[in-house]
Amino acid sequence: MPPLTVGSAVARPGEKVSGFINVPAGTDPGTEIPVTIIAGRHVGPVLALIAGIHGSEPSPILALQRVRAGVDAAALTGTVIIVQVANLPSFIHRTVYRGPWDQKNLNRVFPGRPDGTASERIAHAITTQVIDRCDYLIDMHSGDGNEALRPYSYWNQLGLDDHVDAQARDLALTFGLDHIVIDRGGPRDINASVFCSNTAHVRGKPAVTTEAGGVGVPTEEMIALNVRGAMRVMRHLAMLPGPREMVAHPRWIDPAEVVVSPETGTWHPAVRPDDHVVKGALLGRLTDYFGETVTEVASPMDGTVIYIVVSPAMGAGEPVAMVGKVLPPDGH
Ligand SMILES: [Zn+2]
Repeated sequence: MPPLTVGSAVARPGEKVSGFINVPAGTDPGTEIPVTIIAGRHVGPVLALIAGIHGSEPSPILALQRVRAGVDAAALTGTVIIVQVANLPSFIHRTVYRGPWDQKNLNRVFPGRPDGTASERIAHAITTQVIDRCDYLIDMHSGDGNEALRPYSYWNQLGLDDHVDAQARDLALTFGLDHIVIDRGGPRDINASVFCSNTAHVRGKPAVTTEAGGVGVPTEEMIALNVRGAMRVMRHLAMLPGPREMVAHPRWIDPAEVVVSPETGTWHPAVRPDDHVVKGALLGRLTDYFGETVTEVASPMDGTVIYIVVSPAMGAGEPVAMVGKVLPPDGH
């Protein structure tokens, strides 16, 4: 087998090597992306595990540090590419949603551009150096620094290739978060794939976005949940020995709706993740900076609160919550 190269990391069979993908400066500063390649001795699938697309989502970032330490190349079939922190500018500068220099959301600019702004150049580097080299991809998120959530994943039922969609469904069930949002709205344009995992999916590579953790704080429980998910995916793909596991009774969420703020002001949430709400129920209030109520935000449907913004800063058009209809077990 020839060595696999990702950025400065070059791994031959049986090696675990870390390095950096260089992202040159453009109209804004350059950066780099820390990556690890764990190359098994035997030919097999190439799995990409990505953390830190949003820099203030630390549970998956710390989880992948443990995965790097815990996976022995000698025991592995195939290759794991770990993107330890995809969005280093956002991580270092502690930004929520957007990069510090271009104010763009990295998970909205895929497949990126080599001559674009920093977020677009990072996306392009990940597309060409990671997504183009993998067979399967898990994009590991959590609630951002301002968001509390109940763990869940997205199944991208894209509709371009039923086989890829079915494999992505199995990956979601394997990762092990039992609440799974069915997403049928993914963009199908390979040149405007928008999201990291969708960029793999439109290229015929089964991919899942996971959400476990929140509010910028890595808890042991959420780090462990992310580690468990990554290890389960490797066993499912027969990259590591051990039993294959899948969620036995998934709670499919269909439909789900992101509720956005109608105003800029101070946000006062009235619900918590996993709360059941009826259509019209109060999700939270927006006040002005003096504390006077400007407007109330109501749930658009009967459903369950999947995530809710729990910090006060709020801009018009920003998400405040996602509410979804959680179907009964085996209801799909
Ligand atoms: Zn995220």
